Amino acid sequence: MSLLTQHAQQLAAGAVSSVELCQDYLARIKAHNPTLNAFITVDTERTLAEARAADALRAAGQAGPLTGVPLAHKDIFCTEGWLTTCGSRMLANFVAPYDAHVVSQFKTAGMPCLGKLNMDEFAMGSSNESSYFGPVKNPWALAAVPGGSSGGSAAAVAAGLCPVATATDTGGSIRQPAALCGVTGIKPSYGVVSRYGMIAFASSLDQAGVMARSAADCALVLSVMAGPDPRDSTSLEREREDYSRDLNRPLTGLRIGLPKEFFAAGMAADVEAATINALDEYRRLGATTVEVSLPNSGLSVPVYYVLAPAEASSNLSRFDGVRYGHRAAAYKDLTEMYEKTRAEGFGAEVKRRIMVGAYVLSHGYYDAYYLQAQKIRRLIANDFTEAFKHCDLIMGPTTPTTAFNLGEKADDPLQMYLSDIYTIAVNLAGLPGMSVPCGFGADGRPVGLQIIGDYFGEARMLNAAHRYQGVTDWHARRPEGY
Ligand code: GLN
Repeated sequence: MSLLTQHAQQLAAGAVSSVELCQDYLARIKAHNPTLNAFITVDTERTLAEARAADALRAAGQAGPLTGVPLAHKDIFCTEGWLTTCGSRMLANFVAPYDAHVVSQFKTAGMPCLGKLNMDEFAMGSSNESSYFGPVKNPWALAAVPGGSSGGSAAAVAAGLCPVATATDTGGSIRQPAALCGVTGIKPSYGVVSRYGMIAFASSLDQAGVMARSAADCALVLSVMAGPDPRDSTSLEREREDYSRDLNRPLTGLRIGLPKEFFAAGMAADVEAATINALDEYRRLGATTVEVSLPNSGLSVPVYYVLAPAEASSNLSRFDGVRYGHRAAAYKDLTEMYEKTRAEGFGAEVKRRIMVGAYVLSHGYYDAYYLQAQKIRRLIANDFTEAFKHCDLIMGPTTPTTAFNLGEKADDPLQMYLSDIYTIAVNLAGLPGMSVPCGFGADGRPVGLQIIGDYFGEARMLNAAHRYQGVTDWHARRPEGY
């Protein structure tokens, strides 16, 4: 039985109250967060008030299926009354005046918030080292990064500091940290979850999703957070879905596409071995595999690092010290106030992205970089459309290696950018992607299998992941001491 189902049943049976469940998790956070640094904000009183409200709903006979089950939010989601920092000094004092759509969906479901999770500054990074609040440690190996940008979400779920966490994925930030921390994570198709109240990085790529211990739990929570929202013009007007509906469907006849570009040089031997073993398991479950090609996928990292910074440079112009967030203490005029505020408020990686973005959008370079990147983005999306004529799902590695060590790539942005080589094309195409634990590397650190679906193929992906988790126990392994 999945962890959330277990909690839900205990609550329904009256074996435990939401207050007790939250106290349990808060105690674990208190014990382990000083080492892991997964949470930026914990507010015991606020959490327990939400838990008491959930218990009252239950007592009044008004509980939904997940009422009382707690979760934690990546600190990119505006959460009314809570500090919402986005991992930045710029917002280190920002208390959100309203809830993100995602947050209000969970509130309506009666799910208390355990706290706000650490992340790379403005979700820019693959290691959580760009956070103003310090790096997160990977519970599998404290010397290792948890991945990023949703490193706090991944580490907290892996260490059992929360049963489930929200996260966001612009170029891999759900899948890559899920893989490096041995948890299950899903980024739905672009437009499935509202971005209202989710602090923007690159709006045409950003998408919210979830990390949990299993695909079954991801399905339960995705069903709560997804659905149309008139406050986000890119939120799709599709019927709400029950993402658990197909979990147990047999995989007989499922066609799995293996992109030949993903299985070429670049993948570490231990990651490759675990991936190949997972595919064997799928064949035993009745699936067939077919080679497919994504000929333009090799261009996805350079294309992303033109488009994402371009959008970021525009989105982050709102942090000017005037309305909210950090403002420099002393300045002689308005221009100096802007300059000092932004110089102090943003970290090195964010500044790098703003500069690149402003450059590729500038007169004279727009055609050479931004426009070209947009054209290749279309070609990358077309590659997937072609591949899905031959298969139902695409599978491959999530990351080229297991978790690297803290500091290992911190001074080398290009090496850091390459950690997302298998994940970025999915965002450029707007497709759903997932990472599922599928083994361990030579260093004992987790390996993730990436599952990519066609547009709105979330239920199919979760089905494939769930059946795999029915015959393997990689997702159930826990790091020692947690
Ligand atoms: N690591 C990528 C970046 O630094 C992706 C981040 C993300 O998905 N938010 O931009």
